[in-house]
Amino acid sequence: MAQKKSKNQKTPEKIYGRGANECQMCGRKQGLVRRYKIMLCRQCFRESAQKIGFKKMN
Ligand SMILES: [Zn+2]
Repeated sequence: MAQKKSKNQKTPEKIYGRGANECQMCGRKQGLVRRYKIMLCRQCFRESAQKIGFKKMN
């Protein structure tokens, strides 16, 4: 992929919606699980995983 240099780059980063890169439940940005478009931190993921019926792989 070749990189293009845009003339007027106003936005330094692409942000898809507010808080797109943080946990949807508690807003934490650390330990995010982005698999399956869940967008939760590991703690919330564990909780919701049980509700969803996700089996612990450990
Ligand atoms: Zn969370």
